[in-house]
Amino acid sequence: ETRVSARVDAIAESATLAVDAKAKALKAEGRPVIGFGAGEPDFATPEPIVRAAQEACADTRNHRYSPAAGLPELREAIATKTARDSDHVVQPSQVLVTNGGKQAVYQTFATLLDPGDEVLLPAPYWTTYPEAISLAGGSAVEIPTDESTGYLVTLEQLEAARTPRTKVLLFNSPSNPTGAVYPPERIAEIGRWAVEHGIWVVTDEIYEHLVYGDARHVSMPVVVPELAERCVVLNGVAKTYAMTGWRIGWMIGPNDVIKAATNLQSHLSSNVANISQRAALEAVSGSLDAVAEMRAAFDRRRRTIVERLSAIPGVNCPEPQGAFYVYPSVKELLGKEIRGTRPRTSAELAEVVLEHAEVAVVPGEAFGTPGYFRMSYALGDEDLAEGVRRMSELLSEAE
Ligand code: PLP
Repeated sequence: ETRVSARVDAIAESATLAVDAKAKALKAEGRPVIGFGAGEPDFATPEPIVRAAQEACADTRNHRYSPAAGLPELREAIATKTARDSDHVVQPSQVLVTNGGKQAVYQTFATLLDPGDEVLLPAPYWTTYPEAISLAGGSAVEIPTDESTGYLVTLEQLEAARTPRTKVLLFNSPSNPTGAVYPPERIAEIGRWAVEHGIWVVTDEIYEHLVYGDARHVSMPVVVPELAERCVVLNGVAKTYAMTGWRIGWMIGPNDVIKAATNLQSHLSSNVANISQRAALEAVSGSLDAVAEMRAAFDRRRRTIVERLSAIPGVNCPEPQGAFYVYPSVKELLGKEIRGTRPRTSAELAEVVLEHAEVAVVPGEAFGTPGYFRMSYALGDEDLAEGVRRMSELLSEAE
């Protein structure tokens, strides 16, 4: 018996935020911890965006409640940006501005799911999805993938997991935590399969602009237009514009879904802070130059980290094509002795790495696949090199 509801009691602490908090606490004690935990760009929010917010503070229109679904100008700008960036043509009425991508995830599942509805959830998955699904009364049906297939789910796997209760497929490309980017043909295949079986697709495109090499981002409802009436696109400014603290995300979907989700939001949180909405308006209507610069830096760090991690015996690090994470397997290191300990799980190994190398990583347990580390490479080049050097030194002792 707990004093809180069983529903909320079942929610696990966000492992990624917990690792980050622990790393910060050790740092505060004076230990030189290098954090690969947070999914957060190390860049400052671009200056014109900050200026737009400063101006918005002085404008008394922004001191009052505004429409729950978002400022009309912002909804329109998001519709325009969506057509510009992914060729997905939508009306402003199909856009709902939320308090970060996280609220968009919660509201989407709360709006789509009835108790017992199943959501196909390819693993490794972002930690928040299963919590949002169960809080909405649904059940997540995990579909495991691994490094041998580049962490991409196949149509056969989806079909094998489909039941009469399957309502939604959660799709996330580029992926957190693996950095995998689905090729356009696979996206088209999956979209057609969803249409054929009347399955909704919730597609989280928050890393759309962070793709490297030959990879490109394509939006599922664009390659399969018939899907649009059963598709919700999730996005936000956090990753693209280094705006994690501003809390602006959005849902794009059919009008009935957006209307229902707006009703929910009107009781939950009302409008998102107007100052942040004005900043986001500047971000989405401005150029993508700053994003291109950040992408170039991430790409450089991606190559460095893949190369150096791959050189560590027992670490198998596929090269990701998107987002800013690597997801190496550390399975071969489990059960080996390191500094008098014998970690048997990736969670235990992550503890050892934090204690002895003073490097914070998030263990694969947080993403539904033990045996891996998620490491964000959205940190400075020097810290990145030093952190991997320390890890390499420590893990090379394993025997
Ligand atoms: N979706 C994915 C896949 C993410 O990784 C994140 C952030 O880590 C979000 C959505 C939500 O971001 P925010 O709530 O900061 O907008």
